[in-house]
Amino acid sequence: MEAQYDAAAVETRRQADWRARDAYATPPPTPGRPDVYVKSVCPFTSGHIHVGHVRSYTIGDAYARYRRMRGDAVLFSIGFDAFGLPAELAAIANRESPADWVQRSYEYMLDQFERMGFSFDWDRVFVSSDEQQYRWSQWLFLAFHEAGMLYQEEANVDWCDSCQTTLAALQVEDGRCWRCSNPTRLIRRKQWFLRISAYLEENERGIDAHEELWDKPSMTAQRAILGRVDGVELDLHGADGQSLTCFTDQIDQLGQARFVMVSPRHPELEAWVVDREARERLEEIRQGGWERGDRSAESVPVLDTGLAVTAPNGAELPILVSPAVDGRYGPTAVLGIPAADESDGVIARRLELPKPEPVEATSTSNGSAPRPAVRYRAGDFAISRQRSWGAPIPMVHCDACGMVPVSKDDLPVRLPRDLKPTGEGNPLAERADFLDTSCTSCGADARRETDTLDRHFDDLWMWLPTAVPRGDRDERMFDHPECARWLPGAMLIHGADGGGYFFDQRITAKALRDIGPLRHLEDGEQFTGAVMHEMVTQDGRKMSKHLGNVVDPDELMKRVGADTTRLTVLDGARPRRALNWTENGVQHCNKFLRDLWEFAAPRLPGPAAEAAGESDEREESVQRRKKLESWCAAAAEKVTEDLEQVELQRAVKNVMRLFDRIKDFDAKATRANRGQIPAEDARAVAEALALLARLLMPFAPHVGEELWLASERGDGSLAPWPEVNAPATTPA
Ligand SMILES: [Zn+2]
Ligand SMILES: [Zn+2]
Repeated sequence: MEAQYDAAAVETRRQADWRARDAYATPPPTPGRPDVYVKSVCPFTSGHIHVGHVRSYTIGDAYARYRRMRGDAVLFSIGFDAFGLPAELAAIANRESPADWVQRSYEYMLDQFERMGFSFDWDRVFVSSDEQQYRWSQWLFLAFHEAGMLYQEEANVDWCDSCQTTLAALQVEDGRCWRCSNPTRLIRRKQWFLRISAYLEENERGIDAHEELWDKPSMTAQRAILGRVDGVELDLHGADGQSLTCFTDQIDQLGQARFVMVSPRHPELEAWVVDREARERLEEIRQGGWERGDRSAESVPVLDTGLAVTAPNGAELPILVSPAVDGRYGPTAVLGIPAADESDGVIARRLELPKPEPVEATSTSNGSAPRPAVRYRAGDFAISRQRSWGAPIPMVHCDACGMVPVSKDDLPVRLPRDLKPTGEGNPLAERADFLDTSCTSCGADARRETDTLDRHFDDLWMWLPTAVPRGDRDERMFDHPECARWLPGAMLIHGADGGGYFFDQRITAKALRDIGPLRHLEDGEQFTGAVMHEMVTQDGRKMSKHLGNVVDPDELMKRVGADTTRLTVLDGARPRRALNWTENGVQHCNKFLRDLWEFAAPRLPGPAAEAAGESDEREESVQRRKKLESWCAAAAEKVTEDLEQVELQRAVKNVMRLFDRIKDFDAKATRANRGQIPAEDARAVAEALALLARLLMPFAPHVGEELWLASERGDGSLAPWPEVNAPATTPA
């Protein structure tokens, strides 16, 4: 070992060694050896990594390294979320094709990941915009289509007349196009929607069943996205005897209902509103831009249909239609009760609904008795977009047959790699080599669908590809035998902004179980463990280019090294808390590594066991060594427990504390022997350092492994995790 800590030298050496021995390749199945899948979320191909990535992947990597040292067969790799607007905008700015930009971008990011010391299986990395990958997104689309999980419906999209293109929400600033600054308008376009409603109840049961397994932030986020509302529902009848099921969570105030409010997306609305004039007005409200509009009770669009139902107490309740329902209860019908709800009061006032006339208390012959009911805010969402950088939707338009699905055997529907979007139009619509095809049903000339899948659709199954060896992905994916080997995965690490993806991915797992390939996932849950971490801030503010407070991982790696950077993100906060990044934190962790290195260098490997002998039998020395041993045992136990619970800040602090105790022992033993530490004590120090090296390895793998090698207690392969007295068995 060099006397001084040289992060660059240490990290280059370790990384070259890991590469040479392919240290993190996914092991083949071995009887008796547990298979453990650790998953971090897939980054956008954003060009380079940021500190948020460093945090997320350091947490995942520490956990994966720990499980490997425990002897488990670990799958830990990464994929890139490469389709969609971020890549398209970057490509437009660089005047190149998104394909070229994505390629450069992920290659650079992979290099950064390697320099950070992340132990990904490089051979299982995937990129969502690769043909090998998106053919399976298209396969999933067709499978969902067959299973009745997709439907087409008109929806509002932003449109720029001068660019002749639809815009994503973030391309519209103050109602103007990001590219040409002309005002945008909303147009109606047919969109594909994913029907998730069929699985909401089961998703809720899954949350309940994972109470002890997923951490609290994950649970809370899953519940919030589900948006369960408890209440009652009752069937009310109109003048012509038609019935409408109405929901309310104001059970005690049922008798005070003044109106019924129905979501424009209510499935039965079409059947209800038959009057031509009312239908026209309904269409108006649907076109009124409400999806992006203000949803406050003061300004949300409300349509009075002129229809009414009779309340149980005999009162006539006018039927209103308003998107205000959706955000609170999903696409349903609810009772409006101004006495119980402020925004209901605002709406009653806006529509100048007459004060309720005192009604005679009659029998409950009007409508059914209230029965307990549940509504969920989570609802179906659009998965298509009118942009070129995405997986083509595998459908063709035939004059005779209409819209026809492409056969699964004909996948992939290839996206031209040389597309250069300019922000104007949809370049796919101008490519004859893409457009012209034949109908899969009758064989006549047909045109390909030019809409592509939103990258949210690619995300639905990004937890799966790394389970399949890259060489097999052309032939098999969802039904590959390795899916059954790795799923359900042991641990998902996701950020606070990733809860929605996880929610929809859990629905996808359930659908794939029912469709067939993942039938072994009986409860439809693909992760038994989940940890949700918060974001990184600086001085209490979110890091952003805009605020000019972005910390560059490349600069950090160059200045203090990857190990210091990794320790800083772990030591700065519990994973579940926001991490406030400070230069003090960097200095603290860097000093720890330097001190440890300079302390260990002259003390490793320590005297041989024979040389140490049994000469020093003084009670004081024996006691001192016993104490050091018990400190070591306690540290190993604590760090193990911390890792099982993914409490990595605590784990790092326990490692640092052990170093203080080793130094303390060393100083006392040296003092007690007039400045010359006895061989036995020096041996004890070396043993303790070898243990510390292994405990440090998940967090600062380069320094940890160098110290372990210098201790000469291993065989050059992966160090085993220290034996602990009471091995923790909780699945985190
Ligand atoms: Zn424009
Ligand atoms: Zn046809």
